[in-house]
Amino acid sequence: MIILENNFTTYKSCALKLDQNDKISKYRNIFYKPNTNTFEPFIYFCGNSLGLQPNTVSTYINDELDAWKEYGVYGHTKSKRPWMSYHDNFIKYSAELIGAKNKEVVVMNSLTVNLHLLMTSFYRPKNKKIKILIENNAFPSDKYAVQSQLKFHKNHPSNDLLILKPKEGDLISTEYINDFFKHHGDNLALVLIGGVNYYTGQAFDIHKITKIAHEYGCIVGFDLAHAAGNIELNLHDWGVDFAAWCGYKYLNGGPGAPSGVFIHERHLGIVDIPRFEGWWGHDKNTRFNMPNNFNPIKTAEAWQLSNPPIFSMAPLLASLEIFNNVGMPDLRKKSKLLTNYLYFLIIEKLESHIEIITPKTELDRGCQLSLRMITPIENIIDELHKNGIIADWREPDVIRIAPVPLYNSFMDCFEFVERFIKIINSNILK
Ligand SMILES: *Cc1c(COP(=O)(O)O)cnc(C)c1O
Repeated sequence: MIILENNFTTYKSCALKLDQNDKISKYRNIFYKPNTNTFEPFIYFCGNSLGLQPNTVSTYINDELDAWKEYGVYGHTKSKRPWMSYHDNFIKYSAELIGAKNKEVVVMNSLTVNLHLLMTSFYRPKNKKIKILIENNAFPSDKYAVQSQLKFHKNHPSNDLLILKPKEGDLISTEYINDFFKHHGDNLALVLIGGVNYYTGQAFDIHKITKIAHEYGCIVGFDLAHAAGNIELNLHDWGVDFAAWCGYKYLNGGPGAPSGVFIHERHLGIVDIPRFEGWWGHDKNTRFNMPNNFNPIKTAEAWQLSNPPIFSMAPLLASLEIFNNVGMPDLRKKSKLLTNYLYFLIIEKLESHIEIITPKTELDRGCQLSLRMITPIENIIDELHKNGIIADWREPDVIRIAPVPLYNSFMDCFEFVERFIKIINSNILK
């Protein structure tokens, strides 16, 4: 824990010192920062929405453009990274990132598509166990996906959808969840929760939730869009049934980058599991014999439908190699310091204007902080932008900021608060 004295220059020298001691600061230079003429340095706090571009990306894409130019169809086998097995390049990196066995992961499609494919397999309503549980403020796409699955199974899109919603201002604590299961667990078929909630930034205790849900015979899935590359995960040991995440937020895979999927080994190799199937899920040894019957690969790859989109995978691969070099433990270590520093500086300097709705304890959050304006300022996101800060706005009143340990610094955090104070002062004095 950093001890901060109530003095701005001390905070600044503290930030400078923390940056000096930052063992992974060299990675900051690998990323292209958006440019602006309005203000330097530019502070990018939107890695939770779209991660920045690593400078290795263009090489990875160009490799494949060249292979296509040079080899045509033979690129499937002759490219430096043969297209036929391009998705295999992700297995080790993805497994490490989320704490899984290699056979439990696959990278394919995009996130909402994968949520549907997974629910096709893992939402199996039976008798009175038909309901699905999500968290309050779940990402709208997840809610739409879940509701359409309910309808698809002729269940009711709102009556059969349960929402973890404690009273206003309270965290969704594990005790609350425990209590919720005592009342509703017997009617629940599926639990689908965001590992880190996109709106509040709360990180859930995935291990405990999984354990509770399993005691009630529910299948448990997590949407890790805001967790992958942000917090340390151990999905296999925690016993999670399935998970999916996107490649373009903390993972810096570029706009629309493909999504990752985890399926626990207990569900692998089951031939008659309900599943939507395609040729890329078929046994690799006989795939090109074009057999009549589907013979699923014995890993999470059985859920693949189509041959992989090489050009959208290339940037993600470039980025995951960086994650592999840094390693989640070091990344998370810096992340905790970085967000703690920002948290306490905001409390210290801006408490009368901003309420932080993200949990205070570092175990209960990733790097993101969600701020609610107590003193409303018109067009605050534009104001921030004019002052060289990219942050994001979620209706009705929340600013999300994410100091990302790969490319943000302690001085970014210091500058953020300093500029924010200026904005507030000039708006209040207007
Ligand atoms: C970002 C995000 C999505 C986006 O879904 P796409 O299918 O990638 O467009 C879905 N769910 C959550 C929780 C997210 O954070």
